[in-house]
Amino acid sequence: SKSKGTSNKGECVKVVVRCRPMNEKETQDGHERIVDMDVKRGAIEIRNPKGLATEPKKMFTFDSIYDWNSKQVDLYEETFRDLVESVLEGFNGTIFAYGQTGTGKTFTMQGVKNDPEKRGVIPNSFEHVFQHISRSENQQYLVRASYLEIYQEEIRDLLSKDHTRRLELKERPDTGVYVKDLSSFVTKSVKEIEHVMNVGNQNRAVGATNMNEHSSRSHAIFIITVECSELHEDDGENHIRVGRLNLVDLAGSERQSKTGSSGERFKEATKINLSLSALCNVISALVDGKSTHVPYRDSKLTRLLQDSLGGNAKTVMVANIGPASYNFDETISTLRYANRAK
Ligand code: ADP
Ligand code: MG
Repeated sequence: SKSKGTSNKGECVKVVVRCRPMNEKETQDGHERIVDMDVKRGAIEIRNPKGLATEPKKMFTFDSIYDWNSKQVDLYEETFRDLVESVLEGFNGTIFAYGQTGTGKTFTMQGVKNDPEKRGVIPNSFEHVFQHISRSENQQYLVRASYLEIYQEEIRDLLSKDHTRRLELKERPDTGVYVKDLSSFVTKSVKEIEHVMNVGNQNRAVGATNMNEHSSRSHAIFIITVECSELHEDDGENHIRVGRLNLVDLAGSERQSKTGSSGERFKEATKINLSLSALCNVISALVDGKSTHVPYRDSKLTRLLQDSLGGNAKTVMVANIGPASYNFDETISTLRYANRAK
């Protein structure tokens, strides 16, 4: 297998925190906001809503944080653009949205359809990629898109006619880890790749009696592969470089006791927890830089992304939280996770 060095240490992993605004219902119900953010200093303060707490406040700091006033475009420019730029240069990159269901993972990744200001990182990266291509003069580009989900440690192709079929992970010395039979579509414009994304989103919803519930239990991964070929005058040869961008809307991180864990649900919950903790272990091993063993093999998610985590690849994790008091426990747990990963 391709071995990835850890020479870059943690420089290539960025963890940011984003807090969504109070929603209408929370405001109407008079919920208290317990999150305070000092955006300039990257400081987050969480007030403990439980009266007799021994620790009335918890403090966290991160390289960058985004409060309820943050704009999608600011996240893109400050946090995502460099990563997408490096994909255009032939490196791999992965963007994760982590957090409890309802805190804005899908908002961050996809955004709100037909509202340009609320476009998430996925459609913004489409614009970025095709704008770059339209401005290039001496390079030929080929952009391909794939879309899959991991549900209960099973991989499904969201672009295939038979998207309930389980796909297998394989490994080859030359190309690394790949999903066997995963469909991929060549796209030549923003419109075309948007279409691919919409088809996948529709397929994802098919068969789910409750889309919110389904998306809270599965990881959705949109993959853009950018191949660039350039004729070098000096040797008269075509040089090809390939970059891969993984855009990951993770399963909800909430403890499953809230939703009642028995039977099937319990098994689901165990698998979600397993893959999210495997991801945390991989990222912290990479950030640490001293670990000789990066546990990619502990979950489908980390194994699938093995060649895009570590080495020369860039990773951004957005940890999403809610502002209200009733989310206290989950918010703390998300910030701890983010802290471990950074
Ligand atoms: P998740 O995918 O984590 O379950 P969603 O992205 O669906 O959460 O967000 C839940 C709701 O909150 C949606 O209606 C979404 O539009 C809204 N929302 C989330 N984050 C923000 C934000 N930063 N600004 C405005 N609305 C947001
Ligand atoms: Mg979602």
